[in-house]
Amino acid sequence: MRNETIKRRLEMAQVGFVGLGNMGNPMAANLVRAGHAVKGFDLSETSIELARENGVTVVQSQLDVLENADVVITMLPAGQHAKAVYLGANGLLAKAHRGTLFIDCSTIDVASSREIHAKAESHDLSMLDAPVSGGVIGAETGKLTFMVGGSTEAFEKARPFLDIMGGRIIHAGGAGNGQAAKICNNMILGISMVAVSEAFNLAEALGLDARTFFDISSSSSGSCWAMTTHNPVPGIVEGTASSNNYEAGFAANMMLKDLGLAQMASDYTDCPTPMGAEARAIYQMLIKAGQGDKDYASVIKMLKGELS
Ligand code: NAD
Repeated sequence: MRNETIKRRLEMAQVGFVGLGNMGNPMAANLVRAGHAVKGFDLSETSIELARENGVTVVQSQLDVLENADVVITMLPAGQHAKAVYLGANGLLAKAHRGTLFIDCSTIDVASSREIHAKAESHDLSMLDAPVSGGVIGAETGKLTFMVGGSTEAFEKARPFLDIMGGRIIHAGGAGNGQAAKICNNMILGISMVAVSEAFNLAEALGLDARTFFDISSSSSGSCWAMTTHNPVPGIVEGTASSNNYEAGFAANMMLKDLGLAQMASDYTDCPTPMGAEARAIYQMLIKAGQGDKDYASVIKMLKGELS
């Protein structure tokens, strides 16, 4: 009932979309399916072709997405890309008309995100940071989790659009707080995957069967997402990357990026995160061992000395 109301209310909304890659493309496709007119721009021909097939009206420059736009969504690789798109004389914010809402769904560093928010505010424009979790599958199925930073007013305005692309939409507070939530969460995940991997390796070295250890630890104080959902030992939990030759899932490269963002934030706030720093160094080694495109759970193999 609620979705129907939202859909009716938003029929024919004009949406601009910049960054139509692995995540942006299926997100834009869901907005098209929900009845919106989506104008999209990307630098990559491959992304543009796919977007066109998904019903997005492809435009020639990032500024073209602004025309009559109610909302503009960006899904870019990192902070420098988001700053290039939003800031400067030819950036989106300098050329936008008042009333356009901007939602940056990219995962970027908190400082860049807050800089973009401040610039939006100086132009009297509404802006949200809304990084996601749920990966490509979540984007395709419209089940992403959005962690949103910005004003309550902007959040309420964005919500019907986010509802189309996501299953859980959480307002994390003011500017940059969505990014803060995302990187703090992923720092826990990166650290805990190393901990779970070390524990399974040690259990094996001590002669303890992996399944038995899982049965005990997954219902004891060692239980965590890396144990129960992304378990790094093949065959222990159904559907994991480890059971599929460590095909990503969540690539080690992506985990390194997020742990790097956490370390930037740690320096910037002068807040010590020594385990986060250690985890980052461990994933750097994993990537040096050629596993960047493999799932981050393959760290168990490196810790076991199986990669050289
Ligand atoms: P991607 O590299 O597939 O897509 C990014 C797109 O942005 C590319 O098509 C690129 O051409 C485009 N782009 C870069 N600069 C541009 C510019 N100036 N103008 C227009 N287009 C530009 O990356 P992705 O996997 O879609 O990830 C996007 C963001 O989502 C990242 O910040 C990532 O950390 C985050 N994220 C990804 C996943 C995942 O599983 N892939 C999960 C959660 C969050």
